[in-house]
Formats: sequence, structure tokens, C-alpha cells
Amino acid sequence: MNNIIEIVGEKIEPGSQTPVMVKTSEFYTGNPVKLPLVITHGAEKGPKLFITAAVHGNEINGTEIVRRLNAELDPERISGTVICIPIVNIFGFYSMKRKMPDGRDLNRSFPGIEKGSSTSRIAKLLFEEIISKCDYGIDIHTPRMNRFEIPHTEADIHNEAVFRIANAFGLPIIINTKGPEKSLQNTATEAGIPTIVYSAGEILRFHDNITQKGVDGILNVMHEIGMINVKINKPEFSVIVRESRSIHTKRGGILHTRIHTGHLVYQDDQIGSVLNPFGYEVEEIHAAENGLIICISTNPLVHPGDEVCSYVKLDKSLGMVEDALKNNVLF
Ligand SMILES: [Zn+2]
Repeated sequence: MNNIIEIVGEKIEPGSQTPVMVKTSEFYTGNPVKLPLVITHGAEKGPKLFITAAVHGNEINGTEIVRRLNAELDPERISGTVICIPIVNIFGFYSMKRKMPDGRDLNRSFPGIEKGSSTSRIAKLLFEEIISKCDYGIDIHTPRMNRFEIPHTEADIHNEAVFRIANAFGLPIIINTKGPEKSLQNTATEAGIPTIVYSAGEILRFHDNITQKGVDGILNVMHEIGMINVKINKPEFSVIVRESRSIHTKRGGILHTRIHTGHLVYQDDQIGSVLNPFGYEVEEIHAAENGLIICISTNPLVHPGDEVCSYVKLDKSLGMVEDALKNNVLF
């Protein structure tokens, strides 16, 4: 049997799912800025897992993932505690923007400073009161604006506990990265709380498939760390890549792409072209190597140097991915 726990001053009974509001800052009006939490405290003892969404305020896919996850969780059948924060960056969520009102990026501000900037103070409170009290973490993101990305995880695979949960999440692509300095992923992992990122989709949109993959991945991780008994759907394979690489335009103009996320491209394939306002092609864009497209630009208006797409390079794993795509099992 589990114990009563105290989180941000609230006493939470075992076998319960409790919504809690925590004051983190104040608006100009003097009204409090309150962070919503949903705490599912299992009937049995076990690890504490945090799930964070909308750390970048316009990346709202995680808000929906958390809603669907919480609807599925039965606290009577859980060992341990799931602490979900469906909207971390309240300011950015209100204004539908990535960053904070002071122009800072909350995801480059952890673990925060008590007497620091307004962003840093929020990071400090969040990290000290919630994150540092957990055993594992999953932080949910989308790419920046005007991008669409296939579901994947980002994790420091050299950290054994991180690799274990990234692998358990169960997506075909794991990007091996510690995450940027002062990001939640990096700071929490460094502090001994193995944390991964689930990234997919685009800003200010819900996609049913992407939401469900997020929920399934979290349930898979919960199973792996002994919190829940669910049947795991594993991918046919997983590819671990060191980084994603980007292709950029050389010319400004109107971009036409010939590629889709989740598709393979081969060296020298034409992936797009840039046209001038008269409709004449001013640049042909080709793939420099074989790869799997994981992210594409959704905005046809480009300057020289804008990103057309990003891909993961495939060498040894190319044949395996080709087979998987033939069987339509990749995404
Ligand atoms: Zn983000």
C-alpha cells in the first residue's frame, strides 16, 4: 500500500487522481499565474514520473497527450506517482508563443535562480518543487514554427537509465542527444532524473496519430519502470542516430518540395526547388546523401539559408528501413 505524499503543499491520497494549481508568478494585473498539475498517485508504491507539456508555450501537442493519458490512468492499478504538467509555460500558452514575456526561453533556463529573471524564477520553482522530487521524466515538444516532424524520441543513450526509457517508449527513431544546456531534459538528467524528449507534429495543432503515439509511449515507459501492467506494442526496429542533418536553400523565393516526412530520399534525388515570383525555377535542391526525412518546412516563403527539411542519415540501417516502409510499419 502506498503512502500519502505531499506535493507543492498538497496532501495527496494513494489511489487518487488530483488536479492542483500552483502559483508560479504574477501578471501585470497582479493576478496570480497558476500552473496546473494533475497528480495520479497510485495505490501501490513505485517510482515518480513527471510529464511536462508546453514548456514552449505554442507546442500544445503535449497538453492533449496529457489529457488523454490522464483519462486512461486508473490510480488503483498504478504503482508510484505520475505528475503531469499540461501547460508549463502559461505566458507563452496565453500568447500562443514559444518564449516567455521577457524574451527568454524557459527551456534554456533550468534549474533556475531564485532571485533571477522572471523566467529563471519560474524554472527554479518548477525544478525544486516538482522535477527534483521525481525519478524519471518525459518532456513533450514539437519543432519550431513552420515545421512538421515525425514522432521520435531524443535521449542521451550513453546514460543507461535514459536509454532504457527511450527504448521502452518504443518509436523507430531515437536521436542521441543530451539536449541543449539548461534544457529540462539536460538539467534533469544531469541531476540524476533520467529524462527523455518526445517530439512530434507542429505548433498549435493536435494530430490524433501523434497524440496516441505519445500516450502509448508514456504507458510503455510506465510499464518498463514497473508502474503499470500494459501490453507493449514495440516497433519492428529502432534506429539510433547521432543527429539530424538539415538541407537549406541557397536562394530566396517560393519553395516547392517533393518530399514527405517519413519518406526515404537517396543521394542526388531532387527534393525541391525555389521559384521566383515569375514562376521560373532559380534553384534545384538535391539530397546530399541517403536519409529518412524526419522534418519538413511547411512555409513556402524562403530566404537564402532557410531550412527545407531535416533528415537522419542511414547507412547500415537503410535496407532495414526500406523493408519497414514496404510493410508500412514505420509511422
Ligand atoms: Zn520545444
